[in-house]
Amino acid sequence: MPKPQYLIFLDRDGTLIRHIPYLSDPEQVELLDGVKEGLSALKAQGHLLFLHTNQSGIGRGYFSMQQAIDCNNKMLDLLDFETSPFEEICIAPEHPNETLIYRKPSAKFALEMAQKYQKKLEQIIYIGDAPSDLLTARKAGGTAIGVNTGDGPLRKKLKAQNLHQIFPVFDSFEEAVHYLLTNA
Ligand SMILES: [Mg+2]
Repeated sequence: MPKPQYLIFLDRDGTLIRHIPYLSDPEQVELLDGVKEGLSALKAQGHLLFLHTNQSGIGRGYFSMQQAIDCNNKMLDLLDFETSPFEEICIAPEHPNETLIYRKPSAKFALEMAQKYQKKLEQIIYIGDAPSDLLTARKAGGTAIGVNTGDGPLRKKLKAQNLHQIFPVFDSFEEAVHYLLTNA
């Protein structure tokens, strides 16, 4: 049987690049270890990759959408793929107190992509360093894998929300990708 093709949604800050609160300067973009190789491995298996990043700094007026895009583009430069590894990118600019449209844990982006690419909701997978990333997948009907590479200890945060037995958490992107490729 052919392996199913997954829609893999990657968080940006703390997952693909080093977490810096309200990052807005492309010069501060720094890829985390194993990310380029991990994304290559996922693409090589035919999975579709998406970038889904919460950027409340836009809604808070700390920086502009263009600055967020510039940081994304710097990350893409550093990843140095022939073309962008991401099918689509969603930057959610909302302030947390606003009505959430695309801001995680809103599942709107994932659901739209599943419909657009004609995939089942079970084919949605999120990889991220925050409970909101993982909860987004769950809300969409998919699964999620945590990485402990971002803003504070993810396992502890999940435990505080009684979610620690639901999501696997790994200490590196490489381990998360290995888990995904062997278990998905
Ligand atoms: Mg993050």
